[in-house]
Amino acid sequence: MADPVSIALGQGSSCWGCFQSLIDIHLRLAEVLPLLDIKYWQAVVDFKLHHLESYEDKSIVVGLYEGMARTEEDVHLLKLLRDKCQILISFGSCSCFGGIPGMANFYDIEECYDVKFRQNKTFNDGKVPSENLPPIEPVVKPNNSIVEFDVYLPGCPPTPDLIYTALTTLLSGKELELSPHTVCHYCEREKKETPIEKILKPYTGHADPDRCLLEQGYICLGSSTWGLCEGQCVNKGTTCRGCFGPCPPIMKDHGAASISMLGSCAPNEPSELIEQVQDPAGYFWRFNYVTSHLGSMRIKREEAKEK
Ligand code: SF4
Ligand code: SF4
Ligand code: SF4
Repeated sequence: MADPVSIALGQGSSCWGCFQSLIDIHLRLAEVLPLLDIKYWQAVVDFKLHHLESYEDKSIVVGLYEGMARTEEDVHLLKLLRDKCQILISFGSCSCFGGIPGMANFYDIEECYDVKFRQNKTFNDGKVPSENLPPIEPVVKPNNSIVEFDVYLPGCPPTPDLIYTALTTLLSGKELELSPHTVCHYCEREKKETPIEKILKPYTGHADPDRCLLEQGYICLGSSTWGLCEGQCVNKGTTCRGCFGPCPPIMKDHGAASISMLGSCAPNEPSELIEQVQDPAGYFWRFNYVTSHLGSMRIKREEAKEK
């Protein structure tokens, strides 16, 4: 058996779902774990941050960073992984695009404290804690504005199959080539190229199980979304919410591309569409607000305040 390859797995502000998806490769862990010489994985192995800090720069072959970097601790860990690892993987949509936690950028930091602490009477008696709260950045910034990544593996979370393929390829020293297709490419539903008559809410009526959901009026982002999941939602009966973000080059504005896609399929008056699509921010920028055009204006506004 080949010698194990050193790896460090770091978690920023996130839900741990991406690392859970790694664990979900199940029996294939028996094949992958012996390939790994784990140097750091704060929730799984008992190495501390100072162990990671003590390694020589670029002495660890592969690093994975899950989550966005909202706290000063997250930013430190992200930079540390970049310094210590030869190949750094942006792991999951929070890390690639800000993800769902990046939607906090729709609010100011004080409004976030209101929801998290002041209005939450079961927590700390409605007060913002005065200790053990790490300094928090006023807005979520894209991780790739803090460090450079070598590989992006989006998804909320990336699928176990994708993680298995990526890890075994990179650990064997080969280049990772990812299919560039959209979710629609993998979708088994029939498309008749008919325009949308009316936008339907996800719970309205019964969708035809064989027809394109978008053509039936259900907002499906399959045609603007990178299909690395191989269409797992649409082929199981529900719409694509766009969790893998846009196809390469992946830093395109996924929300804007999705709105443009919808506009080309729905010949309705814009005012009608606005009325029918409730929560457009949540629909179109759920995973990518931080790296979108609108999101970058929000970050610039915050940066202007700091000057
Ligand atoms: S990308 Fe999704 S699953 Fe992964 S940490 Fe973020 S919210 Fe959780
Ligand atoms: S828009 Fe959605 S339902 Fe329609 S073909 Fe694409 S992935 Fe399938
Ligand atoms: S079908 Fe869409 S929402 Fe579902 S996993 Fe794939 S990219 Fe994510």
